[in-house]
Order: sequence, then structure tokens, then C-alpha cells
Amino acid sequence: MFTQLFINSCILITFISIFQNFAMKKDINQNSSIPLRILIGTYAGLLGILLMLFSIQVTPSIITDFRALPILLSALYGGFLPTIIASLIMGTFRILHFGLSNTSIIALIVILLMGIGFSAINLIKVERKSKWIYSIICSLILNSISMIILIKDPIFLFKVFTVYSISTVLMSYFIFKFTEYLSESVQLYKKLKSEATIDFLTGLNNVRQFDNMFNIVAQQIIRNDENLSLLFLDIDYFKKINDTYGHSCGDIVLRDLAVILLNTCRVYDIISRNGGEEFSVLLLNCPAAHALEVAERIRKNVESSKFHISDKVNINITISIGISTYPNITNNIDSLLEHADTALYEAKRAGRNKVVLYNSKD
Ligand code: GH3
Ligand code: MG
Ligand code: MG
Repeated sequence: MFTQLFINSCILITFISIFQNFAMKKDINQNSSIPLRILIGTYAGLLGILLMLFSIQVTPSIITDFRALPILLSALYGGFLPTIIASLIMGTFRILHFGLSNTSIIALIVILLMGIGFSAINLIKVERKSKWIYSIICSLILNSISMIILIKDPIFLFKVFTVYSISTVLMSYFIFKFTEYLSESVQLYKKLKSEATIDFLTGLNNVRQFDNMFNIVAQQIIRNDENLSLLFLDIDYFKKINDTYGHSCGDIVLRDLAVILLNTCRVYDIISRNGGEEFSVLLLNCPAAHALEVAERIRKNVESSKFHISDKVNINITISIGISTYPNITNNIDSLLEHADTALYEAKRAGRNKVVLYNSKD
């Protein structure tokens, strides 16, 4: 019996761990896409089949398995659709594999009722631990009803029920702890991944992600023999804004400027906050003349926008922009950053609120 219990635990842990890897890349919840939820239901159904095939022989005449757990996990993490799919797969397999009988029909009904019950419990607004407890109580009630219908000998019924309830409660507790631990790891991984690439203040790419994207895009541009333009933007006299209105008002200006950039550029342009009050826009397949137009549009939009830094105070700001373009002007793509920076410095030197295109002849 302990060997079979061990095998069952291994099957559950293996399936749940593989699923964790998948969950790290996808957002899995009740609002995930329908194909994804169908996949989750099918996966849980297959896990249930395996658990049934490796059921635990408690005594020569008593077997038990943990098919309720994949149904419960589908309900908690995927909602109604995957739960019903998992239940149907398990119930149908129960009939096909063990033959059509009163027992298999009752097993199918119990599995479906568990699916419906767990999904309903999942809708209750309580913490996940309580949902687990209610669901396990629900599965114990449903299974005891089916046992009362199927087992006539009261002593045998008592033995089966006792073994089933104790093993289900113990295994559920173990799997609950395990999935909670995995769920925390997935959340933490997603948080760290996002913080590693996204600027917390504006939601734009941070400088690390800018570097990654620049390297990827540069390879692509060279391979396809295309143009690449880079805009470096810097807010003029930003220190004065901080000094006059406070750092938190400066933050509002940075956030609003990010919104203006997002609204002015195309969706596939790569917009980043490279640090402090410096931003960049990578314009893919964009020659110098067009980059100048885009930069001028951004400059004018910023100049004419009101920045609401408090209920009563609206301010205007200006920005300076330096542009470099590959391959017509900058023929080594690795020099794009340095050249855009030089052009930005020129724009500042020329009096600010200006757009300057890097020109190697100057
Ligand atoms: P210039 O026109 O030459 O660019 O002048 P500037 O004042 O904009 O440039 P400077 O480099 O002297 O000042 C940049 C300021 O940006 C200094 C710093 O306090 C501020 N800053 C940097 N990061 C942040 C931030 O995250 N939030 C806020 N509010 N201010 C920041
Ligand atoms: Mg600066
Ligand atoms: Mg500045």
C-alpha cells in the first residue's frame, strides 16, 4: 500500500511541477483564453486517469485514489470550463476502461457533481485555504453517498469510508501546501521578471531592457538590410521642476511624458526610460527624414501639453532630442547610441527645445 501511495504522490507532484513551468510563462486563471482552459482541463483529466490506473490497494477488497485533487486544482486555478472537461474525461474513462456498470455510472455522476461543486465553491469570496477545506468536505460527502448506495455491508462501508477520508484529507493537505509553495514561486518569478525589464515609474522598458532590445533589433536590422533610427530625449531644466514643485511632482511629469510618447509613437516602436529624465525611442525601419518628422512631432506635442502636477497647477515643459540613423549616417550600428547622445548634447547647446540629427560631417 505504501508503495502505491508513494507512486500516487510522485504522479501528482510530477504533473503539478510540469504545470508550474508552464504557469511561469502563461497567465492562468478563470479569464485565460478558451483553448488554454481546454488544455488545462485535458491535462487534469489525464492526471486523473493516471491516478485511477495506479489506485491504492488498501486491503484486498478496498482501493482508493485521489482523482478529486486534479478536479479541485482545475477549479481553483482555471474555473468552471477546465473542471468540467477534467471531470468528463475521468468519468468517461471510468466507464470505458472498467466497463459500464452501476458503479461506473455512479462514479461518473460523482465526478461530475464534484466538478460542479468545486467550481461553485471557487466562486465564494474566501481565501484559497477555505476553498480547499470546503471542496474536500464536498468530495467526502459525495463519495460517502456513493459508497452508501454501492456498499451494503455496514462494517465494510465503515472501513472503506474511514480509509478513503483519512487518505484524502492527508493527501489534500500535502498537495495544498505544495501547490501554495509553487504558486508563490510563480508569482515571485513573474514579479522579479517584470521588475528586471520594466521601469516601475512609467511602465516603459527600463535601461536593461533597452539594451536587450537594442541588441536584438540591431541583429535583425543588419540581417534584413533595413534602417534604424534612435531618438534620445531629455527634459529641459528638469531639476528646476523638482526644486520648485517637489520630487513627487517631477515624477508626475515623467509619467505623463511617457504617456505622450506612447500616444505619439507607433505600437512597434521601442520606448524606454533610460534613466532619470532621459528617454529613448527606437524607430524600426525608419530613415533619417522620417525620424526627424517623428522627433519634431514628439517635441511639439510635449511643448503644447499641459502637465497637471496638482489640482491647481498645470505646467509646460520642453524636451531636447538627439537622433542617429543607421546605415546612411552612422554606418556602424554600435555607434548609434554614442551618436544620438552627441546630437542630444548639440540640441542642448543650441538652446534646448530642439531636435538635432547627428551628422558625421559636423
Ligand atoms: P538640462 O536641460 O541640461 O537637461 O537640465 P536638467 O535640469 O534637466 O538636467 P540635470 O541633469 O541637471 O537634472 C536632472 C534631474 O533629474 C536631477 C534629478 O534630481 C532628476 N531626477 C532624476 N531621476 C528622477 C526621478 O526618478 N524622479 C524625479 N522627480 N526626478 C528625477
Ligand atoms: Mg539628463
Ligand atoms: Mg534634463
